[in-house]
Amino acid sequence: MDHTKQEGEYGYELFPHRNMGKNKQGSIAEGQFTFNHKCQIMLQFAMETSYMDLNLTSLSSQHSKLFKDRHFSCEDCDGTVSGGFDASSSQIVLCQNNIRQQSHMNRVVTHELVHAFDHCRADVDWFNNLRHLACSEIRAANLSGDCSFSTEAARFNFGLKQHHQDCVRGRAIRSILAVRKIGQEEAEKIVNEVFNTCFNDHAPFGRIPHSKKDANFAYRDYENRDRYYSNL
Ligand SMILES: [Zn+2]
Repeated sequence: MDHTKQEGEYGYELFPHRNMGKNKQGSIAEGQFTFNHKCQIMLQFAMETSYMDLNLTSLSSQHSKLFKDRHFSCEDCDGTVSGGFDASSSQIVLCQNNIRQQSHMNRVVTHELVHAFDHCRADVDWFNNLRHLACSEIRAANLSGDCSFSTEAARFNFGLKQHHQDCVRGRAIRSILAVRKIGQEEAEKIVNEVFNTCFNDHAPFGRIPHSKKDANFAYRDYENRDRYYSNL
């Protein structure tokens, strides 16, 4: 259908306010486009710099292709949510209206990739088993750099290691409370029950990597983890 002709027929040009409204709408749409475009660019950069892209290669190559191509979605979200992993569609949602900085995008992408990794490697019951959810939230907070300042500091100050654990524990509890209708006390209890096991589970790394370069070594450590036993 000829759009221009249609507009002429309806006499839009006779109502300048209508036109203004239309222009305004256009600029909002343009703003949305810019937000979305910016989100896509930051995502691409995050994928290039985040050490968790190894996470993808350690899954099957089919999975990694799947994730890069269509398993990220830049969207507007409610409140102050930065991102989420939609287990029903295996899609990572990035909140384009709440992520403004590259460093923030890097943390969110890495955090959600930990969830995606857990989703692919294990039979996670996200909806019915709160321990599964808690475990993945602990791993995501621990491995993503959400608590990275304390990670850095812990290398120099032993006392801050406790601080890092507290940070991971606190973030995991908040993440659960954000998506499940349970009380603070119950969330704390569940996180505490699985904390030690999940905090020390650094898969697909042998330990928490310090950088992208270090991640290669950490990944190799993980790959070789059973070798010594099998050689015995
Ligand atoms: Zn999470």
